[in-house]
Amino acid sequence: MKKRCYFVSDKHENEGFSLVATSVRDAKKIGFKVLLFNGYDCEWIDVRVEWQKNVNVDDLDVGYVFEGDKGLMEGLFRGCYSYLEYATCPNCGTEDTMVQEIYKDVFGCDYCEDKLTPKDINNPRKLKK
Ligand SMILES: [Zn+2]
Repeated sequence: MKKRCYFVSDKHENEGFSLVATSVRDAKKIGFKVLLFNGYDCEWIDVRVEWQKNVNVDDLDVGYVFEGDKGLMEGLFRGCYSYLEYATCPNCGTEDTMVQEIYKDVFGCDYCEDKLTPKDINNPRKLKK
């Protein structure tokens, strides 16, 4: 069966996790447990599942959840998440900051966005990932 990336969230909180599953039903099952485990006080009927068509998860196992420091960052790089809160900047190492894609395939915090010059942007390899 085809592996797909789903974003599973509590519809009241609008926050959740991306994970790998083969159907909406399975994604909901896995995601509901993850939400409860992470302290979300949600009901089964409040769990919303969204297929993230643009995210490729062929190399990951079914049941993989983009959670924890490493998993969240991986999710950001792959496009599951548009930004992370309270994360560590992959470029400058600032902790407890908001990290997002500041230029194409370049991820960083507000500080990095301000600090980067056009030269840096044309050469994203200079940035640590
Ligand atoms: Zn930074």
